[in-house]
Amino acid sequence: MSSHLKPISDKEKGYAKSIFPSSGYYKQNGEVWCHCCGNIEYQIPGILEVDLELGYQCRCLNHLILEHNPRKDNLTESKYYSIIQTFNKWQVIRTFDVHRINRKGFQTEYTYNEVYQNWVSPDGEEIIISKRYSRGCNFFNWYYNTEFKVRNHNQRCAGYYVFEDVFDVTGNYFYPQYKITRKLHKYGWCKAIEKLPYVSVVECMKMLLTSRHAETVVKQGQYDVFLWMVRSKKPEIEYMPQMNICHRNHYVITDASIYFDMLSFMEQTGKDIHNPKFICPNDLYKAHEIALAAYSKIRKKMEEETKRKLAEQFNKEYVKDKGKFFGVIITDGELSIKVLKSVFEFIDEGKSMHHCVFENEYYKKKDSLILSARVNGERMETVEVSLKTFQVIQSRAVCNHTSAYHNRIIELVNRNMGLIRRAAS
Ligand SMILES: [Zn+2]
Repeated sequence: MSSHLKPISDKEKGYAKSIFPSSGYYKQNGEVWCHCCGNIEYQIPGILEVDLELGYQCRCLNHLILEHNPRKDNLTESKYYSIIQTFNKWQVIRTFDVHRINRKGFQTEYTYNEVYQNWVSPDGEEIIISKRYSRGCNFFNWYYNTEFKVRNHNQRCAGYYVFEDVFDVTGNYFYPQYKITRKLHKYGWCKAIEKLPYVSVVECMKMLLTSRHAETVVKQGQYDVFLWMVRSKKPEIEYMPQMNICHRNHYVITDASIYFDMLSFMEQTGKDIHNPKFICPNDLYKAHEIALAAYSKIRKKMEEETKRKLAEQFNKEYVKDKGKFFGVIITDGELSIKVLKSVFEFIDEGKSMHHCVFENEYYKKKDSLILSARVNGERMETVEVSLKTFQVIQSRAVCNHTSAYHNRIIELVNRNMGLIRRAAS
């Protein structure tokens, strides 16, 4: 089929010229060299100043942005230029390596070399053919005179350096008149899809031809959802009933990833996601925020539940291990320092003191004893005593700071270390 394609037309060639910037070089003496046509003209130095600000109109009618570059006498620029056509019910995206070659004193030359073609079958299968190329970290070379051969996306991508996908048409310039197969039109292809940003037109075609959900979504006018499907390569939407509710309520989703996050939060917090009042919010971002807050609350509860379960699991061993210290009470009348009597107390202590005495599993440490120092029942600091050296290892107040009682606590514990020592033996 590839060999039956027509060569690039004059109209298509003409458009390709416009994808290059309207630029030119100038010299202080008034010389202006147009990169669009190659003409050299002379402007009166006084007026040149104005041209530099407003742009210079060349004889070829292009409005040039001028750059001061008096020495350079040649300039070659290249762009990838794609034309979308059909052949035998297939879609073909043909990509040309277009060069604009400027040598001072000569007319501007344009060359068009077709380098690869992405073929999309009526079933959404893609086949790529391309000319031979070679590349390294900082060079890329097409061999225009080689045969077209079948290739894959990101072929020979091994090694430490990850190359860009040569056959991804996303950043290419396109001839604005797309020819689209009847099947794609039937499935909902339209101008709005052609205008979707930062996405490969080939991937859009494949998605629309292979996913029934994509077809529905496009026909419902939810282009951002379609874009999200293509970008995240998800041919199926979990919340299809919700899409239909949106459609019935004329609700257009403007940010699909935020929208689906919101739905998932709502679902997990038991909100009715069949009620358009909830799932078609006027302010999507606000609704997302609220759903997220509700979800965070529930997740916190769930986390606490797992903590409790964990505590239950280890409590027996803790009590067996440290039970003999539970009778130890250290006090000076105002301060009262007691050993934590269960793993549940570790949870409470960590929660109210905002430190990690539970998370870091201090209840599992054989050689340390954790005590809570309080004044009138209010937690002041959490104390760790070594059962090896019988010394205070650390004493921490809220958020691992120290309290006004810090020194008093340590002295008091040290003075009464005998109680702990005796309980240990
Ligand atoms: Zn010109």
